[in-house]
Amino acid sequence: MRKAERFQRFLEYFTTHFPEPETELQYGSPYELIVSVVLSAQCTDKRVNQITPELFRQFPTPAHLAAATADDIFPLIRSVSYPNNKAKHLAGLGRLLVEEFNSEVPSNLEDLQRLPGVGRKTANVVMSVIYNQPAMAVDTHVFRVSHRLGLVSKAAKTPLAVEKELVRYIPTELIPKAHHWLILHGRYICVARTPKCAVCPLTSICAYYARQIAPLLENLPSLPSAPELPPQA
Ligand code: SF4
Repeated sequence: MRKAERFQRFLEYFTTHFPEPETELQYGSPYELIVSVVLSAQCTDKRVNQITPELFRQFPTPAHLAAATADDIFPLIRSVSYPNNKAKHLAGLGRLLVEEFNSEVPSNLEDLQRLPGVGRKTANVVMSVIYNQPAMAVDTHVFRVSHRLGLVSKAAKTPLAVEKELVRYIPTELIPKAHHWLILHGRYICVARTPKCAVCPLTSICAYYARQIAPLLENLPSLPSAPELPPQA
């Protein structure tokens, strides 16, 4: 299957069946989103959503975060992964937002990546979710699903390479949605260890399925036919 057709069918499926995907992180402002995305690195959205209500109650604005130390923040985020580093990042992020960005979350990739704890992936999430820009954030799910489906080439070995290949084929206006589609598909169907191909709606376009699963099914021995009932008296 040509790559353009694979993209087309992928986009058609999700546009039809899941037209308005959203992030599963719970947030009420750009500030809350960027803090949540920083916390979600190597951690689940579910876990982050469990701790952010109290975090945002105690630190409702960048100014509150800027006035805090990492030691103040740590107890509230200790159940996420890498809490020490993330507490330091959040304290620094609050300070930089206040000192250089008038307590606003920047709306360009360059400035976003200056914030502590914010790499290209986090910056792309903010650009996409808050500012609806055609930014493709490549996390572990997007990376894995793009490769399995065959949306990107084997040569795309880094998140940046995957990002560049994806945005080449996805119409600009659909890029923010495609980011969510790939994440959610990876989170619930095309999971890391054992993808749930038996319930996946994308088998007909999936390169992994064609290569790994379909040949196994073709070689299954056919079942013996059931014995016939004797004639009824
Ligand atoms: S068919 Fe299997 S490997 Fe392919 S996208 Fe679906 S779950 Fe993933």
